[in-house]
Amino acid sequence: MQGSMECPGGSAGVIEHLIEIRSELAGADGEAASSRLAELDAAAAVLDGLRLLAVSRVQESTIWRDDPNGTANSYLRSRHRRSHKESAADLRAAQSLVDFPQLREAVDSGAVSRSHVDVIVAIGLRNDTRARMLPDFLPAFIQIATHYPATTLRTVMRRWADQVDPLMTARDEDEAHQRRYLHVSQLADGVAVEGFFGRAQGATILAAMNAALSELHRSGSSADEADKDHSDQGMPVSTSQQRADALVNLMDRVLAGGGLPAAGGSRATVTVLVPLSRLEQPCERPADHDTLKLQVAAHHHLDPRFLFATGSAEIGVSNGPGRDVISAQAAQRLTCDCEIHRIVLDPDGLPIDVGRKMRTFPTHMRKALEVRDQGCVFPGCSKPPGWADAHHIIHWAQGGKTSLDNAALLCSRHHHEVHANNHTVQVQPDGRATVTLNRRRL
Ligand SMILES: [Zn+2]
Ligand SMILES: [Zn+2]
Repeated sequence: MQGSMECPGGSAGVIEHLIEIRSELAGADGEAASSRLAELDAAAAVLDGLRLLAVSRVQESTIWRDDPNGTANSYLRSRHRRSHKESAADLRAAQSLVDFPQLREAVDSGAVSRSHVDVIVAIGLRNDTRARMLPDFLPAFIQIATHYPATTLRTVMRRWADQVDPLMTARDEDEAHQRRYLHVSQLADGVAVEGFFGRAQGATILAAMNAALSELHRSGSSADEADKDHSDQGMPVSTSQQRADALVNLMDRVLAGGGLPAAGGSRATVTVLVPLSRLEQPCERPADHDTLKLQVAAHHHLDPRFLFATGSAEIGVSNGPGRDVISAQAAQRLTCDCEIHRIVLDPDGLPIDVGRKMRTFPTHMRKALEVRDQGCVFPGCSKPPGWADAHHIIHWAQGGKTSLDNAALLCSRHHHEVHANNHTVQVQPDGRATVTLNRRRL
């Protein structure tokens, strides 16, 4: 028919109808929108069913033989904007609707969605054993799919699979466990962590992380704090950032609590090596240009171990290789509350004297500070003491005393902010610590 390409009446009709629904939705109340949503969900399921029907027709037609790669998958990929994975999933789902007319009917009626079909295929057709058993149980699964989300269907089907086919469940679990990995890499600007764990190991991680996060949320449970993380100063904190903070918080506690195996005589610690000059001076002050040039001139062989070695703060771990430069700002923050070892270096960076170790905030003072401040004192923040650093209002290297008068608890995020923006922290006559924001960012 000649006119049919010019005027695809059927599809234009559908699209026009959808556009009508859009303008109707713009003015709809909750009730009307909700009933429309139910219709649209059903329509989407029907549409998915039709797409899968088209996929099986393509598959059956063998039109794909003309494709350079000669498979239905490659045909779908090159003609229909699908990845290999998406094409494979479409072909499997389409085949399941051919093999199980009951499932086809449920999809055609809009009762079962594509995501439900994918669960049925992934779990029910995982191997021959399950595929043989599936027909007896499919009506039950379809019924559950009709009333519950795909995640519920997945739970039910996983239980079923475990009971009809326990070997495969164990094998899948073992296979997932074999895929476990944790990449921890030092990049130019930080450390990247990425990983995968099987269910059992994953549960250990979730339990610890959720404990840390729930402590955080418990402390911020009053109504006006519900969205405090988005309302106070600075950038909003995302859920991923909270998880990142929780991981560091957990690691901090493990390091502080000891109990880790020592390496080379010292327990696992984060070490900050910092020349006193970087703590004593405002951190934005650059080093004297001529002094730096003299340093270069003084090194006959430009030995990288020593060149510029005494001017920057560096961070490292006691049980791993190498150190990396950190800013004077970070060094000041990290040394607010830590164990100090005074090490005097000669001009080449070699130690000539090591002092007795001392704690900036001794335990009893830290406890008193926790009782007084009860957590981060930054306006609008309520992170609990376990998440807070003890901050020297005037840094000890600049003559500040380690006393309650010169101390305030700040969570790691606000400790960052106070050091970065020079916010004014004060202990009021009534003993309350307050932060006054410095609007002029450095
Ligand atoms: Zn500090
Ligand atoms: Zn805070």
